[in-house]
Amino acid sequence: MIRGRIIKGVGGNYTVTTDDGREFFCQARGLFRKQEITPLVGDMVEISIIDEAQLTGYLQEILPRNTELVRPRVANVDQVIVVCSVRPVVNLPMLDAFLINCELQGVAANLCINKIDLCDKESYRELIEMYTLAGYNPLPISAETGQGLDALTAILKGKTTIFAGPSGVGKSTILNRIYPHLNLATGGLSEKIGRGKHTTRHTSLIAIEKGTYVVDSPGFTSITIDQIPKTELAHHYPEFREHLGTCHFAKCTHITEPDCAIKAAVGKTIHPARYELYKNFITT
Ligand code: GDP
Ligand code: ZN
Repeated sequence: MIRGRIIKGVGGNYTVTTDDGREFFCQARGLFRKQEITPLVGDMVEISIIDEAQLTGYLQEILPRNTELVRPRVANVDQVIVVCSVRPVVNLPMLDAFLINCELQGVAANLCINKIDLCDKESYRELIEMYTLAGYNPLPISAETGQGLDALTAILKGKTTIFAGPSGVGKSTILNRIYPHLNLATGGLSEKIGRGKHTTRHTSLIAIEKGTYVVDSPGFTSITIDQIPKTELAHHYPEFREHLGTCHFAKCTHITEPDCAIKAAVGKTIHPARYELYKNFITT
């Protein structure tokens, strides 16, 4: 048996990269089938070889998962890089929806603020303050000029990362600039099809170097916030968490209730603008 990782799965056929850099084409076989565990892209697996020359094998075992994203279904993602762009404007409610989605799915998130070549520092200063307090390590970058991309590359090293964020913020451009061999299509859907470049239909892992992977996926879908009960939404704001449970009312929504620990922290450890966004989610 040899160890590897599923990087692609289509119709019951799995592509597994092994530690020595070979790619095996595998079918599912092992005990996990009886246990009704579906192999996922990203799974660490053990395979048995059918034909060494043909590079074929059977999936025999799926090793325990660290994380399991639901949409897209992919295992062992270490982090999400949520990308927004300063131009035309940052859609803050949508940005928070993406971040809340990461919290819900239990995966670490970092924020990248892209296209900073199109504005001055002052116009994203507040954004940096908001999301630094929230714990998302906002990193200003430009895929155009390359500014900040060394720092981003360092964050990706040795990890499995998925890029998330609305269409047009520059996700593919960033990846192409860091890893030119990827040659991902950029510049909006119609152009992407027209140019006939690589476009994504199935979720797969792209092996960048040993231990470093990027998830190539048609979409990290953002949940709709109204699926979350109002008394639970605050749990998905990392900077709110240390205060939760200390409000006067156990079921405090942190809007109009008296003696609220969250409201008391606004302007201190909670940025007023983040709190306003939270409030809008609750009251509209
Ligand atoms: P995606 O949909 O998030 O993958 O976005 P794309 O990578 O397709 O980029 C959308 C558009 O933004 C393209 O026309 C890019 O050339 C442009 N773009 C991406 N990053 C930057 C940047 O840092 N600065 C500028 N000025 N334009 C950028
Ligand atoms: Zn409260």
